[in-house]
Amino acid sequence: MKILITAGPTREAIDPVRYISNRSSGKMGYAIAEAAVAAGHEVILISGPVALSAPEQAHLTQVTTAEEMYAAVANQIGEQVDLAVFCAAVADYRPVEAAEQKIKKSHAEQMTLVLEKTRDILANVRGKMNFPGLLVGFAAETNDLEKHARDKLSKKKCDLIVANLVNDPETGFDVDENELQLFYADGQSEKMPRQTKTLLAEKLIEIFAKLGEARS
Ligand code: C5P
Repeated sequence: MKILITAGPTREAIDPVRYISNRSSGKMGYAIAEAAVAAGHEVILISGPVALSAPEQAHLTQVTTAEEMYAAVANQIGEQVDLAVFCAAVADYRPVEAAEQKIKKSHAEQMTLVLEKTRDILANVRGKMNFPGLLVGFAAETNDLEKHARDKLSKKKCDLIVANLVNDPETGFDVDENELQLFYADGQSEKMPRQTKTLLAEKLIEIFAKLGEARS
């Protein structure tokens, strides 16, 4: 398969030295890219800023902002891509304006930063980008995992949502282990118990491949 994967966080500038971001390390997405390459698939990896090295065989595009990630996905997702896996933790909001110069401390005790919505990449893949292939989204939730995951599954027109609860400090963001729950478009769900992201990624690639076969 030809697989497109998004990974890592995005950064939205406040001024030349500050930004809004999140705790995503990119480990899950990069583990999936590694497992995909190892299984002989062709991989396009579109990544936000992370401290990881991409598999050599992957075609890597590095981006910083949500808008740059949107453009990279829109450019590279096409009919040749069989499977798209959206692992990136994309900013939902960004500062309306990034100051051209460093914002100086003033006497005011508070300051207000006005934010605007970013474009949801995954939510535009089926419609605007016309992607016909297998579509997998991720959901990082602190509560009501199943409700939020099923909501995303239908709103973003995915075949599968891979969900993880991120409020346990030992699994989820920036650690080597994760515990997942899969929610399929046909209503089924499946738990993947706590294990390394490397092992999870290998199993996910097998699951995606089977899903792809069943779909074609
Ligand atoms: O709605 P939420 O951000 O929780 O959905 C998560 C899923 O949507 C992930 O697969 C994430 O990569 C994707 N997403 C995206 N672009 C955004 C926000 C989320 O592709 N702007």
